[in-house]
Amino acid sequence: MNHGQTIILVDPEDKGAGILAGRLRMQGYTVLEATDAAEAGRLALTEPPAAVVADLWMPKISGVQLCRLLRSEANSRFVPVILRGPEGQRNRFWAGRAGAAAYVLKGRMGDLVRALSTAIGATPACAIPNPESVVSAGDLRDRIADHLDQALFDSVIAGEIRALGSCADFDRLFDLLSQFVSQVTSYRWMAVSTEAPKRFGLHVNPLVRTEIEAEARSAFGYDAEVHVTPIEDDDAYADREGPAPIVLPIELGQDVIGHVALAVRHPVHPNDAALVEVIARELAGPLRIAMLLEESRQLATTDVLTGLMNRRAFLAGIDAETARCHRHNRALSVALLDVDHFKRINDGHGHASGDAVLSAVGALLLKLARKGDLVGRWGGEEFVLAFHATGVAGAEVAAERRRVALTELDVRSAEGAQITVSASFGVVRLLPGENAQTLIDRADRLMYQAKASGRNRVAIDTSEPGEGCSAPPSAVRAA
Ligand code: GH3
Ligand code: MG
Ligand code: MG
Repeated sequence: MNHGQTIILVDPEDKGAGILAGRLRMQGYTVLEATDAAEAGRLALTEPPAAVVADLWMPKISGVQLCRLLRSEANSRFVPVILRGPEGQRNRFWAGRAGAAAYVLKGRMGDLVRALSTAIGATPACAIPNPESVVSAGDLRDRIADHLDQALFDSVIAGEIRALGSCADFDRLFDLLSQFVSQVTSYRWMAVSTEAPKRFGLHVNPLVRTEIEAEARSAFGYDAEVHVTPIEDDDAYADREGPAPIVLPIELGQDVIGHVALAVRHPVHPNDAALVEVIARELAGPLRIAMLLEESRQLATTDVLTGLMNRRAFLAGIDAETARCHRHNRALSVALLDVDHFKRINDGHGHASGDAVLSAVGALLLKLARKGDLVGRWGGEEFVLAFHATGVAGAEVAAERRRVALTELDVRSAEGAQITVSASFGVVRLLPGENAQTLIDRADRLMYQAKASGRNRVAIDTSEPGEGCSAPPSAVRAA
């Protein structure tokens, strides 16, 4: 039996309500019959009962509204609400969305009794009601309107954030997020961080960038090592001080995939905390999608061992670059290089040492590259370079500098033995009308010429522009 647990029953239009109340009393419940939803709400807020049973459709305040109200108010947050109504999938759906513990068909008393006992059994230990919270029927309507406004606010914000799911990278996502949030509230700065890979977007006013970046880093516990992607404009206010940032984790399933921080301005708006909550909740999906897309693009275009462009990415880059050079009548040179006697390195020092040599070669080539140059791993121990706006004389100097630098590389095997590295280069410049593949093929042939001439040297293409690409005269520069 239910030891006098109090149930509030409201069903103003049902002639059978008295019978229902009697039946519930027989189950041991103390039943308070409210004349309408307003009275039921007032009773439930002032002295929270074990459960509320209400009709879905009632005049003035519907069961769904009553349910939303009780779910949203501190005093009645844990009071289960059972809604009753006619058959219909939509009724059950809206009752569920309003937070009802159950929806039972009218006339099904057995179902109601079972639903009540389940719902009351599942109720956590209730919060102590606040006796001050006495409300009038008028207040009740206002409160319902406030809660509906809040729900609308939440769903509009949630919809906008979910729409960011079409962003294919972090920078774009953070840019659009900042454009949106700065329309909803006034803030000093906003930041979003992700864990793996580490990304850190900061929207800040350019006048206070330095101070705010330090404040944002300390909010996330980031030192100067973590790279920041700043968006600087005056949509973020230039206040040097203000309320402490609201920082929340962005969770996907069990994992924390990042954080969001919003530093709003004085005076803090009551909706600001809820806003950050919605952002943190809704951003998880779009953020994950953007990071996965970035990762898959990265995997498709990057050589894992050296971090350089892979062959495919290099070809795409050089295709575009040759087209630009033809259009603007600009010079372009390419060098293809192959590490000398690499098989001996593998055989003598082990495959891992061979890999270490390839990583070191890649890092060196990247370090020496100028802005606009392309550096790729062509395959195995072959690398390919494109020198932007550079003729063959400049490219020869560039290749020669790299050849010497490679011989000076300090790479050691696991046993600490010094590994001698050198490479042979083929250098060509783009001829009029030539495509990227032919250009690289010519560099490859010259590279073999450098090998044949003794290795550790640069073979250059000396043909004049306009001579075409068939068998250009070439010269091998000995080390
Ligand atoms: P040459 O001076 O004529 O270029 O001689 P080589 O030994 O460098 O040339 P060869 O083409 O005979 O050997 C290249 C070797 O590079 C064979 C291959 O197993 C090795 N190799 C290719 N890719 C990798 C890699 O990713 N890691 C390691 N450790 N070795 C690789
Ligand atoms: Mg090779
Ligand atoms: Mg080789």
